[in-house]
Amino acid sequence: MRFTTVRNATWRHANIVLLGDAAHTAHYSIGSGTKLAMEDALALAASLEQPGDLAAALDHYERTRKPVVESTQRAAQASLEWFESIDHAIGTEPAQFAFNLLTRSRRVTHDNLRLRDGAYIASLDRWFDRRQPGAAAVPAPPLFQPYTLGGLRLRNRIVAAPVALYRAQDGMPGDIDLIHLGAKALGGAGLVLADMTAVSETGRVTRFQPSLAGVTSVSRRTGWASS
Ligand SMILES: Cc1cc2nc3c(=O)[nH]c(=O)nc-3n(C[C@H](O)[C@H](O)[C@H](O)COP(=O)(O)OP(=O)(O)OC[C@H]3O[C@@H](n4cnc5c(N)ncnc54)[C@H](O)[C@@H]3O)c2cc1C
Repeated sequence: MRFTTVRNATWRHANIVLLGDAAHTAHYSIGSGTKLAMEDALALAASLEQPGDLAAALDHYERTRKPVVESTQRAAQASLEWFESIDHAIGTEPAQFAFNLLTRSRRVTHDNLRLRDGAYIASLDRWFDRRQPGAAAVPAPPLFQPYTLGGLRLRNRIVAAPVALYRAQDGMPGDIDLIHLGAKALGGAGLVLADMTAVSETGRVTRFQPSLAGVTSVSRRTGWASS
């Protein structure tokens, strides 16, 4: 619960160079620290073999290794956060817990698991199936199963995230917003979130952000229904 993730702005100074855990750490729950350290050593040796001076070799070593390490650290961070907030998973059913655990780093997905173990994913999909009994034999993957959110019945679990377009006029969204949100809806997302909408005109971040007051006043002026 107190794992230290080491990151260094630079891995070298003059003739000193860092590798392995001294340069970077990745939470042990993804089991990658030894591999990263060994790969660092191989990359450093290869860089030193290249023609050029020491500074160029160390620069090459760091440039080639950093993107790989940072990518692994992102996966490790997701895994670390999963374990450090494990309360959210306690009490879930074993099938859900297992799938959640397997996909915690976000590198292993439902589709990856299907390739690795098709029978496991088929049984998971059957367990998750939210349809009425007697529906067609093969259920859709969980992402495409319906979801109930308050009074809303969503046909799938894909949510289009809000994108601030800043194209509203007097707080009122226009054609650009209609095309943007309409395209998302036509794309099949179960829920489309409109961008941030201020409750009052003075609460807007810019003049081009939608506001509830703007929508109401424009609809009053133009006679639009304010639904
Ligand atoms: C609980 C746990 C589980 C892990 N599980 C996995 C796993 O499953 N798979 C995996 O790949 N990785 C795992 N790791 C990570 C892995 O152990 C490390 O990433 C890896 O050992 C780093 O290698 P390193 O050579 O950079 O550092 P280290 O292995 O830490 O080596 C550094 C060495 O330097 C020595 N040292 C320190 N200071 C001095 C000094 N002043 N003078 C001389 N010597 C000194 C230390 O004693 C040590 O022997 C795990 C780590 C932990 C903590």
